[in-house]
Amino acid sequence: LEVIASVEPRVAEATRAELRDQRSSLKLIASENYASPAVLMTMGTWFSDKYAEGTVGHRFYAGCQNVDTVESLAAEHARELFGAPYAYAQPHSGIDANLVAFWSILAHRVESPALERYAAKNVNELSDEDWETLRKDLGNQRMLGMSLDSGGHLTHGFRPNISGKMFNQRSYGTDPETGLLDYDKVRAAAKEFKPLVLIAGYSAYPRRVNFAKMREIADEVGATLMVDMAHFAGLVAGKVFTGEENPVPYAHITTTTTHKSLRGPRGGLVLATEEYADSVDRGCPMVLGGPLSHVMAAKAVALAEARQPAFQTYAQNIADNAKSLAEGFMSRGAKLVTDGTDNHIVLLDVSAFGLTGRQAESALLDAGVVTNRNSVPADPNGAWYTSGIRFGTPALTTRGFGHDEFDKVAELVVGVLSGTTPGSTKAGTPSKASYVLADGVADRTKAASAEM
Ligand code: PLP
Repeated sequence: LEVIASVEPRVAEATRAELRDQRSSLKLIASENYASPAVLMTMGTWFSDKYAEGTVGHRFYAGCQNVDTVESLAAEHARELFGAPYAYAQPHSGIDANLVAFWSILAHRVESPALERYAAKNVNELSDEDWETLRKDLGNQRMLGMSLDSGGHLTHGFRPNISGKMFNQRSYGTDPETGLLDYDKVRAAAKEFKPLVLIAGYSAYPRRVNFAKMREIADEVGATLMVDMAHFAGLVAGKVFTGEENPVPYAHITTTTTHKSLRGPRGGLVLATEEYADSVDRGCPMVLGGPLSHVMAAKAVALAEARQPAFQTYAQNIADNAKSLAEGFMSRGAKLVTDGTDNHIVLLDVSAFGLTGRQAESALLDAGVVTNRNSVPADPNGAWYTSGIRFGTPALTTRGFGHDEFDKVAELVVGVLSGTTPGSTKAGTPSKASYVLADGVADRTKAASAEM
């Protein structure tokens, strides 16, 4: 920090403040974690300065031998850890990994003479007319993914996202009563819509998915099954999700982030069957430019950590702790979407406290509990204000929290929400954003969490 401060002290101070905040608050955002010092330090090296467009042993720049080493190690660890025939470590983020997967599926599946020439790498021989045909052929394909308000991700076909524009998209939801995935409804939607791509995976669904069933549905309609395991990759790596709950043997292509439950650097990863390996390997130039070599090195370190037996204990603790948190909420009368959890996510419906998700999120933050608001199925408050708060256990599990601590977290959260009332605007009209916290609640909560 002294080195940074000598150039821009405000960045050094913000960095110090971020460390203080992350240490002193209860980090319950389901997509966050604490990466190890080895992972953090690997990101801060001179690999950051190296360009390496291309693939291992086939670069557009000279002098990439050391990048080849770390990229190969990241891919090797990923293949071994997840039992995947092929792994691609270049995507800079989860969204990039999904874009690589989409274009790989299009390149592999869409029948187009122009595409065949593209695939044969005779790019220079493509005429303007070819490119136009290619755009039409690729631009009208169908995707079926989980809707955002049921827990899916923006990149699973949400209209304002590029995925909803690249593809002719439809979504499947969860049952509005139970909040659970209904495979018969997914099958019916797939049979009617006949998607080229069926996406499974989620950002805010507190239950496990049966990927064997999703593959069956994909096969019935000739779709490619893509699974985005960004959220639960750590539970797959740690062998908490096995058999039909492990997507890798069932999906044609599996994507993930490396920074959530997997506890690595911010980044993405694509796993694929042999059939899709070649097209994924062309992530650059299809979608990507130069990979972040320092982050690929850190992915190799994080994946090596995840291959150690201790990671399996960590992953099991994530799931056990989510159950403790859910039981802690329910025993205090709070209402959860799906009435529980069997992964790392707990989705609390805060409408019973008379609050919107936005009010609850802000009140909790004042009390040092960091979460994010989230829609619940058929949410009357929409995607901005919402009626839910999403909690995740990966970060506090890294800090060593167990059953008793998560029960205490539930007590503190219920205490804050019970001590919060909706507020109004300056003009006196009710507001979905403002709130009033009872005296002393924030300080008492902070003091209690400091002791944990
Ligand atoms: N996929 C899922 C399921 C996610 O939850 C997220 C992030 O929240 C992403 C993809 C995108 O990851 P990133 O933020 O690294 O682009």
